[in-house]
Amino acid sequence: MSVPFALPDIGEREIAEVVDTLRSLWITTGPKARLFEERFAKAVGGSHAVAVNSCTAALHLALEALGVETGDRVYMSPYTFAATAEVVRYLGATPVFVDIEPETLNIDLAKLADRLADDSRLFPGRAKAVMPVHIAGVPVEMNAVWDLARKYDLAVVEDAAHAFPAERDRITVGWMPEDIRGAVCFSFYATKTITTGEGGMLVSRDPHLADRARGMSLHGLSRAAWSRYEAGGSWRYDIMAPGFKYNLTDVAAAMGLIQLDRAEEMRTRRQRIASKYQQAFHHRVELRLPSVPASTTSAWHLYVVRAENQVARDSLIAHLTEEEVGSSVHFIPLHLHSYYRDTYGYEPDEFPVATAEFQKAVSLPIYSSMTEPQVDRVIDVVSSWSGVAG
Ligand SMILES: *Cc1c(COP(=O)(O)O)cnc(C)c1O
Repeated sequence: MSVPFALPDIGEREIAEVVDTLRSLWITTGPKARLFEERFAKAVGGSHAVAVNSCTAALHLALEALGVETGDRVYMSPYTFAATAEVVRYLGATPVFVDIEPETLNIDLAKLADRLADDSRLFPGRAKAVMPVHIAGVPVEMNAVWDLARKYDLAVVEDAAHAFPAERDRITVGWMPEDIRGAVCFSFYATKTITTGEGGMLVSRDPHLADRARGMSLHGLSRAAWSRYEAGGSWRYDIMAPGFKYNLTDVAAAMGLIQLDRAEEMRTRRQRIASKYQQAFHHRVELRLPSVPASTTSAWHLYVVRAENQVARDSLIAHLTEEEVGSSVHFIPLHLHSYYRDTYGYEPDEFPVATAEFQKAVSLPIYSSMTEPQVDRVIDVVSSWSGVAG
């Protein structure tokens, strides 16, 4: 029995809602996208939501609306996907990497504090924003991030591509205190916890930021232009800025509405799979299992185990591949990729924890449409791995 690494969980309800949208003939951004925004904002305790065609777009729009520009410094860990840093480069700013903590693979907040203290002397006035990434669905400790944001006057743009729905210390990912400038960005890419095929959402409590992002998501057109989707719209528009084409279609939003409705049910299923893995593997001394900090509800987007070293990791992947069980590695840290290495001169050991954890990491299949026999198959295959190289 082969087990794919990831599959979306699409049922008859999603199909019916998409068909309904097609029959309505309103297939681009319209009433369903608006409804999806309203319901999503409510689900995460945010005030304003802007539906876009990817999380990458949401991250870009958030930084643009916050005024990030050439020469600015934006802080993040290198243990993330390409999107988090590339949007900083779109705006001519510098992604400044800070190493991770080995337990959660999230940014190391003590190292972030040190870096910000140093940079306030070395690059006065240049630190603009911090981008916490909630790896695998475990939220970064946001109270600590917000304290640093207050101290150094930083905006906060959360990469929550893995973190819906998720919570830590009673804070739902998507919520932000009133005195913090920023936004939280979600992904609805095919493999993410809820999906619209391609899609994303920017959530912010700042109405001006949300307005700017919405305008820039549609060619930088004025509010009057994009409100033509609503009753009483007009043919007039004005271009405020050279914007982008980032709007989410109603066909995609239709899928999103149903997925949103099923989000907690799907999360519960992933959590059950995770518990089953934890129980099955806890005696394997050669494997370090993912751990969820206290007072945390993980979205369980990923189940990342760590082998003892790179040789053992590669042997586990080879074994899984041979037995037709899908796996992946999250992530190849950004400082190891040619663009960031060549542009910023990074060495692999500059972020030793990120490099070491990447070398040990393997992601096992965890998605709500996995069948029980598939979960058992993954357990059997991992259990039959010798645990050593070769
Ligand atoms: C998937 C992902 C993104 C990008 O999401 P898209 O919707 O595909 O643009 C950004 N950051 C992280 C950490 C991701 O895993």
